[in-house]
Amino acid sequence: MTQAEKKYIELRESIDKLSNQLHSLHKNHMQCKKGCDLCCMDYEIFPIEFDPIKNSIKRTNIRVEPSIDGSCIFLKDHVCQIYEHRPIICRTHGLPLLFMNDEQWELSACELNFAEFDDDDFTTENTFPQDKFNSQLFMINKEYLKEIKSDKGEFDLISLNRILQLK
Ligand code: SF4
Repeated sequence: MTQAEKKYIELRESIDKLSNQLHSLHKNHMQCKKGCDLCCMDYEIFPIEFDPIKNSIKRTNIRVEPSIDGSCIFLKDHVCQIYEHRPIICRTHGLPLLFMNDEQWELSACELNFAEFDDDDFTTENTFPQDKFNSQLFMINKEYLKEIKSDKGEFDLISLNRILQLK
């Protein structure tokens, strides 16, 4: 395992920890449960996230087929088939996310979970700081590309759908 891969796993663990804390904090509002797949779509991710998923698919009997409605190809009967290896974006599903857009703070929150909230109810203490973790992921991916001597650019993303072409 490369240094960047180790750092990626550590980053994933710290994101899981914070996500779990936020889930507990908002437990009275969270409707997320097995079977709800509203957030599951064809995401584009960095190679540092794509490669472990690709490798896990090769090691298992998971069957993936093209999606006809734009949902994620890893959904089967509304359940994620790669839950353990799911990318970072999937680890914050349903939580209130705080991020910068066009030099302004923006908040994204699942309307099923936070139907009765308004923006003033959210603070830096009860939201997920998406930019902070995205920056760390960007740097780790950059290091990974260097380690594996990839010809990909540091901004290149890969659609989860690409797995279909590698089967
Ligand atoms: S990888 Fe799993 S959790 Fe992420 S979008 Fe696909 S099915 Fe949903």
